[in-house]
Amino acid sequence: MNRIFWLECPECKTRWYAEWVLRHSEYKMECPNAGCRNKFKADDASWIDEREAR
Ligand SMILES: [Zn+2]
Repeated sequence: MNRIFWLECPECKTRWYAEWVLRHSEYKMECPNAGCRNKFKADDASWIDEREAR
C-alpha cells in the first residue's frame, strides 16, 4: 500500500491520515470534522505520526 501519515487538527484534535505525498507539500490539509473544516499545512498539525505502512 502507499505510505501514509497521521495528523491531528490543531483546532478540534481530530486525527486522520493522508497520503505521504502531501506530508512535505504546500498543500493545505482539510480537517474531516464537519464542524471544523480547518485548513492548515501538515507542518502545523498538533500531532503527526510518520510510521511506515502497517
Ligand atoms: Zn478540526
